[in-house]
Amino acid sequence: MVAGNWKMNKNLQEGLALAGELKQQVKNPACAVVIGTPFIHLASVCELLKGTPIHVAAENCADKDKGAFTGEVSAEMVKSTGAEYCILGHSERRAYYHETPAILKDKVELALANGLKPIFCIGEVKEEREAGRQNDVVKAQLEGSLFHLSEDAFRQITLAYEPVWAIGTGLTATPAQAQEMHAFIRSLIAEHYGKAVADDTTILYGGSCNEKNAAELFANPDVDGGLIGGASLVAEKFLAIIAAR
Ligand code: PEP
Repeated sequence: MVAGNWKMNKNLQEGLALAGELKQQVKNPACAVVIGTPFIHLASVCELLKGTPIHVAAENCADKDKGAFTGEVSAEMVKSTGAEYCILGHSERRAYYHETPAILKDKVELALANGLKPIFCIGEVKEEREAGRQNDVVKAQLEGSLFHLSEDAFRQITLAYEPVWAIGTGLTATPAQAQEMHAFIRSLIAEHYGKAVADDTTILYGGSCNEKNAAELFANPDVDGGLIGGASLVAEKFLAIIAAR
């Protein structure tokens, strides 16, 4: 899978123009292609991309199912736009909006209950990597939000390993660092759900992945694609990353 995360970029018209460019170019991709857009774009982008191989993701959903939560957008509302995926646990949500593993657990459950497939982000910050704690951090994130799920539910999850020090910084994990962490994540899944589930789980790499380094990252046996921020905002770059998968 190659998934884009537009974050808080592009107004509706700009977003539709980018989705339209991708629609023209992505005809028969060798992998699943997903674009994550702001909430207000979802319905129009889904309509534009109907019948194409491009899938649509929200970048978040609420941790409550409905009611008096002004400004929030529920998983059910996301689903009603035609979106199929929901990015959850992004490091920006964890850091700036204080989303804890417990909150994310609720969001994952609501997404799944409403038929959305979570793209769940995990990853350590710079200080944690420097202290050699990256494996413990990632393990705790998985245990805190996902490993309570049944096997069937867990099979709906796509994981994205995103070392926080690599997001939007131009610092990419080396292919060896990515492979080492992805293999560790897969081993944890195997411990909890067995080897078949672990082998079937899609684990994306994210963090300054671009059209120049994507092929090298994707060549690793446990790197199943990418979650792409900045480079997903430019059609040619995103298309080149899809082609690298
Ligand atoms: C992201 O936000 O998920 C991401 C990977 O961003 P960037 O590609 O810009 O580092």
